[in-house]
Amino acid sequence: MSNEVRDLYREIVIEHSKRPRNFRKLESVPAAEGYNPLCGDRVTVYVDVTGEQLNDIAFEGSGCAVCVGSASMMTEILKGKSREEAAQIFDSFRALVTSGAQVSCPPALGDLVAFAGVRAFPSRIKCALLPWETLWRVISPPHPDPLPSTSSGQALGGEGTHFAPSPSGPSTPSRLRS
Ligand SMILES: [Zn+2]
Repeated sequence: MSNEVRDLYREIVIEHSKRPRNFRKLESVPAAEGYNPLCGDRVTVYVDVTGEQLNDIAFEGSGCAVCVGSASMMTEILKGKSREEAAQIFDSFRALVTSGAQVSCPPALGDLVAFAGVRAFPSRIKCALLPWETLWRVISPPHPDPLPSTSSGQALGGEGTHFAPSPSGPSTPSRLRS
């Protein structure tokens, strides 16, 4: 990926984090809250789901640009999709950010390919995946075993520096710059 393209993608992420789409509460629909103690990201994802169809998706919360940008793009790309389609997109996105894997024939990730650079920053992978994992807790049967990382987050809290949408928060991923 050329530097020009990478800069363009970084701009896309930052633009979404400044003006997140579907940043609102949905009333009377299932929701789940996700927390990333490593960064302080906290999101609540609302899903209006009927049968297999994700009619509407929205989120609230605060976090770094990677987290908020990912959540914003997620709501856009998954709205109107079926659970099956959403699962395929999530799989492709997770592969992209964790290993940079280019699936041979992926569902269209659209601007989400902007997150390909995240894999170079392991601490940011959780930021990018948090909104997706939170959404999955809403639309898939609950797992009996809670994630171990969410129960021990108190000791790392108290930063108080994450507010979203923030035009120039301290967590803007300037480290993606190369
Ligand atoms: Zn984060």
